[in-house]
Amino acid sequence: MHKKIVLLPGDGIGKEVTTEGKKVLDKIAQVFNHQFEYEYAAIGHDAIESTGNPLPDETLIKLKNCDAILFGAVGHPKYDNDPTLKVRPEQGLLKMRKELGLYANLRPIKLFDELLHTSSIKPEVLKGSDILFFRELTGDVYFGEKGRKDGRDTAFDLMIYHRYEVERIAHKAFQAARTRRKKVTSVDKANVLESSRLWREVVQEVGKQYPDVQLEHQFIDAAAMKLIQNPRGFDVVLTGNLFGDILTDEASQIAGSMGLLASASVGDTVGLYEPIHGSAHDITGKGIANPLASILSVALLLDISFGMKQESEAVITAVEAVLKQGFRTGDIADTSTDKVKILNTSTMGSKVVEQIENKEPINMTALNTASFIASIS
Ligand code: NAD
Repeated sequence: MHKKIVLLPGDGIGKEVTTEGKKVLDKIAQVFNHQFEYEYAAIGHDAIESTGNPLPDETLIKLKNCDAILFGAVGHPKYDNDPTLKVRPEQGLLKMRKELGLYANLRPIKLFDELLHTSSIKPEVLKGSDILFFRELTGDVYFGEKGRKDGRDTAFDLMIYHRYEVERIAHKAFQAARTRRKKVTSVDKANVLESSRLWREVVQEVGKQYPDVQLEHQFIDAAAMKLIQNPRGFDVVLTGNLFGDILTDEASQIAGSMGLLASASVGDTVGLYEPIHGSAHDITGKGIANPLASILSVALLLDISFGMKQESEAVITAVEAVLKQGFRTGDIADTSTDKVKILNTSTMGSKVVEQIENKEPINMTALNTASFIASIS
């Protein structure tokens, strides 16, 4: 198969981990006889420095004319420490999601058994957790009217949802649940917020079309607590942009590290794949960033955008094999044991590549990405 992929490394460790993601794509192309054509494009701080725009038109044109996008991260301390700056890296990210109509962000949270100990949650609570988040991506307070008044002493961000926005992502969540454990937990704050009352009303209506799927509602505050108390109680979680942003970072602790979690943003056109972490200035340039989230994003890309199930499983199985052999980056290493071997960003990427090349017959079950992929392809 011939496919065109835009690489959007962005800022900070985004560049470092995307290099490893591309290494894996190259190896998959070689082993499975595909042709992947790459184009690089600028976004975030780098793009502001070179063009004054966090999402230059040239980038947008490339994004609209490719088969899939592998993104790193955006962000720079300059902006984090100065909220008055008007042009900001994350504007590039928000605009990209909006322009490409990427309204559903999927984040699978499933723990590799080898890493049970790396989470701050007790292994007996965690074991067997397997959650698929559907976070709405193009509405909510992030896109509602915002501003200052009363001589800038009052600030507001409008939390707003339209029926169609809730409907389209709810369908995706219910369809995914059908291929999994048939349960959707919709998270809102309907006891207080009108936009949440609309959310709940629409989710209930959509749910009637999926009578085989159990639907429950939880308030965001309770869901945040239950996620840590009993993560196995969740199957598919459906939620809005703001609540989803917070809950999915919380859920990253179930997987042990931000450096392990991949995500897919899909809508009606091209799919965007990215690690959930940011540009991590504290470790940029040190060569210690964990590239596995980017590599697992490649697995999602192969499966969801290209329908390459076997290739996707080859990536996941290779990651699992590398972990099983005791290789770790610093963020997921249990230094109390001498069984782990700590690798840097590049050597971790190379280990995964080697594993794909060797395709050693290791008896392990790959993560079942197919279960939710079926729903969105
Ligand atoms: P972050 O995710 O960049 O980092 C949080 C912590 O996790 C840091 O201690 C970091 O070292 C660690 N970490 C993250 N990814 C890691 C990896 N792959 N391997 C090892 N350790 C890893 O979040 P932050 O510090 O809140 O934000 C830093 C910058 O990133 C900010 O400018 C923020 O705006 C931006 N950001 C961007 C995105 C995105 O582009 N999607 C997401 C979140 C934050």
